[in-house]
Amino acid sequence: MHEEFLRGIARFREQYADNLPWDPEAVARGQSPKIVMLTCSDSRVVPHLTTSSGVGQLFMLRNAGNFVPRPGTGSSEEASIICAVDILRVEHAIVCGHTHCYAVAALNGDRSKLDPALIRWLENAERAGAGASPPAQVEHNVLTQVARLKQLPCVRNALTEGRLQVHGMVYDIESGRFTVYDAASGTFVWVDERKPSK
Ligand SMILES: [Zn+2]
Repeated sequence: MHEEFLRGIARFREQYADNLPWDPEAVARGQSPKIVMLTCSDSRVVPHLTTSSGVGQLFMLRNAGNFVPRPGTGSSEEASIICAVDILRVEHAIVCGHTHCYAVAALNGDRSKLDPALIRWLENAERAGAGASPPAQVEHNVLTQVARLKQLPCVRNALTEGRLQVHGMVYDIESGRFTVYDAASGTFVWVDERKPSK
């Protein structure tokens, strides 16, 4: 096992053994997160840290590129989203891309030398238009995946019933800031320049 990883586990135990940053009885009783978040597996994306979220607050899904596979294909993503939306009844679903995303770069680059499994995975997304900058490619992918998320039957039903909101976001890995898609302006705007709406 990786030494630094093991030392990190030990440090956490030393620091929090008698004072866990969660209520053991409460977490044993269950969870009631308000948010399901699909983001990239990228190690530079650290949602709990950069959203000041605690234990039980974010129901997380991660994969390379924050892609949403087609409905009915038995994907882990659809299964997890059904758990979040229909069982846990989350109120918000977030697709969060990030700057400098390798998956988005692969999506928009030359795929010919990629592993066939990766080529198939990239079919869950769409290339951005010719000449799109890397940040614009990331935003394009987020909007593609938001649209695909809305095609999942559980999400479609929850939207129809008015119990779910779907959001597209981008995490900027250098600054630790987020943008969110603003449908009114058709652009991504910085989250920390908006007043929280809820
Ligand atoms: Zn990524």
